[in-house]
Amino acid sequence: MSEVWLRKNRRRRLEMGHPWVYKSEIADVKGEPKRAEVVVVKNHQGHYLATGFYHPDSQIAVRIATYDDKEVIDKGWLKRRVTAAFAYRKRFLPRVDFCRAIYGEADGLPGLIVDKYGSIAVVQVLSAAMEARRTWIAPVLKDILGVNSVYERSDAPTRLMEGLEPSEGCLLGECPKEVEVMENGLKFWVDIVSGQKTGHFFDQRENRAAIAPIVRFSAAEKPRPDLRYEEPPGDLDRRENIHKMAKTNGNRHGATVLDCFCHTGGFAMHALLYGASHVTLVDSSEHAIVTAKQNAEANNFSDRCEFVVANAFDQLRTYEQEGRTFDVVILDPPAFAKTKGAVEGALRGYKEINLRGLKLVAEGGFLVTASCSYHVSPDVWKEVIADAAQDARKILRLVEYRSAAKDHPQLFSMPENDYLKFAIFMVQSR
Ligand code: SAH
Repeated sequence: MSEVWLRKNRRRRLEMGHPWVYKSEIADVKGEPKRAEVVVVKNHQGHYLATGFYHPDSQIAVRIATYDDKEVIDKGWLKRRVTAAFAYRKRFLPRVDFCRAIYGEADGLPGLIVDKYGSIAVVQVLSAAMEARRTWIAPVLKDILGVNSVYERSDAPTRLMEGLEPSEGCLLGECPKEVEVMENGLKFWVDIVSGQKTGHFFDQRENRAAIAPIVRFSAAEKPRPDLRYEEPPGDLDRRENIHKMAKTNGNRHGATVLDCFCHTGGFAMHALLYGASHVTLVDSSEHAIVTAKQNAEANNFSDRCEFVVANAFDQLRTYEQEGRTFDVVILDPPAFAKTKGAVEGALRGYKEINLRGLKLVAEGGFLVTASCSYHVSPDVWKEVIADAAQDARKILRLVEYRSAAKDHPQLFSMPENDYLKFAIFMVQSR
């Protein structure tokens, strides 16, 4: 087996648990490993550190597969990792039929992402290492996750950096275009073929549920003992409960909500379930809005929804000019900074939407805001919001700060895993 010897003077990142070796950290390569070949990684003294997959043309020269020098990287390796990943979900999630079952490096499977939508798994193969072993994937997922079908959506731009072309299609069983996902008692239609990424974003699932206490009552509602927030009934997954809740919760005391960058209505549907009186959904993607409409229909919420296909930056300005306000404003934009170099522009974007969003929040209402750019750190992002609040002459109370749901485990040594920032603020004028 070829060996990759690391330099003496380097940060001990690998020893801290970071699962990549950068090209710049390598002192010597003994042998002539090809793309995706298994190599042994040693420190400058020749001590074994890990076994991984080599890539001669990528900045990420080795992706770690195991820290055990005796472990063989075969189909059994994949099986063990998938089994461990699924066991992790079973421990921490109330239900595992709909979840992100495998989250790449964080589950010890570099470049493999799998979302489980009931009996169908949607996979993203994002590394040359996984690409070379792609025939193992579908049978193992069928076996361990218990799915009947596997659909591939490997169309992420990161594939290009690994020298791979996009690849899409049905790998196993029958793959319908649209599948149904249950989340916190709500039904979502997911377009696995033409939706964004794999069609549904599980990372915000727990954050969507976190808005329950703020949408139950409008900001104008004076505190009254009979208007207490109550936990939604436990067994949310039963359809009858949903309809009952939707009926009791859709009341005139409920909040008006603006769900900006709504995609297929993830936050909007939750707001309606938890008692919002009306939700405005804004997204620039016609396709996303079409699916959002289907989702409103599926949950019996259509009469409390207004759909707008528009650029959020323009639409926020329009509402400001119209003097329109909302009890709750939700901002969940796409990653504005997709590369390190794009951070500055991204920060301007985050500041602008948060500034405009804050101006639309009714007195005593709430701003729900998020960022999924991992190049923008939580500290920098919070500064941007503080900045926007200052310009908008608002005082913010941080109700809750959160990150991605538990089916997106975070390798503590890998800052890339800490990409999702989510906060709920109570907004007061100054
Ligand atoms: N909140 C959603 C996820 C949002 S993903 C959920 O819970 O599922 C980001 C969304 O922003 C995408 O649907 C994308 O179509 C939309 N988007 C991107 N740029 C936009 C813009 N300038 N104006 C409005 N929407 C935009």
